[in-house]
Amino acid sequence: MTAIIEINHLKKNFGENEVLKDINVSVEKGEVLTIIGSSGSGKSTLLRCINLLEKPTSGEIVYQGENVLQKGYNLPKYRTHLGMVFQSFNLFNNMDVLENCMSGQITVLKRSREEAKKIAFENLEKVGMSRFVSAKPAQLSGGQKQRVAIARSLSMNPDVMLFDEPTSALDPEMVGEVLKTMKDLAQTGLTMVIVTHEMQFARDVSDRVIFMDKGVIAEEGTPEDLFVNPKEDRTKAFLSRVL
Ligand code: ADP
Ligand code: MG
Repeated sequence: MTAIIEINHLKKNFGENEVLKDINVSVEKGEVLTIIGSSGSGKSTLLRCINLLEKPTSGEIVYQGENVLQKGYNLPKYRTHLGMVFQSFNLFNNMDVLENCMSGQITVLKRSREEAKKIAFENLEKVGMSRFVSAKPAQLSGGQKQRVAIARSLSMNPDVMLFDEPTSALDPEMVGEVLKTMKDLAQTGLTMVIVTHEMQFARDVSDRVIFMDKGVIAEEGTPEDLFVNPKEDRTKAFLSRVL
């Protein structure tokens, strides 16, 4: 296995509040790693530390053999290798679907409009949204917006895609289409780290599942390990609440 990202002894404090306590985990190339756990256990903070939307208090994030937290490291470059999909879509409402998927490619990756358009189309095709290229976000349903957000992120050709509860803000009838899109992506060999409350989905799609509790990784294993034979009492207690 090849680790794309290796996290060593990661800590994050907000003032006195220790939100992440000595997190050690690696993300392997091509794997789907799912993070589950109660609200407030630190799942979003971990994702936000991985892509440096939050600055870790201490520890290492090793990418391509180098600690990205060392002085002088090219952080903007590192960030372009990670895609992030949020609960709340974060599309540009003044741009149509196609422009949403092109703008980062042009401004950040310096691709030509022509190339950016081609890549945007390919990715909109993957998420089943290529018929909507001229639509504005306001004309789309939540599920469609989220699929565009996924296509926009994919268009940057990230090494790793991070998803923070991508279906939590959706009406129930739209959850399925987004989960289906993510399942399809998982099968293409994309490396994905997914925070989710959708336990059946986590069980179906994950290579590895992490259960977080109060800022630590309380248990880690295959979906079978976690969902069928959990070892830790706190994992069992969590699952009995959510399943
Ligand atoms: P989860 O995603 O598992 O629900 P979070 O990572 O959002 O958990 O939050 C973990 C803890 O960190 C919570 O106690 C939360 O209040 C705290 N926290 C998160 N972000 C901030 C912030 N920007 N400032 C202060 N505290 C925060
Ligand atoms: Mg969260």
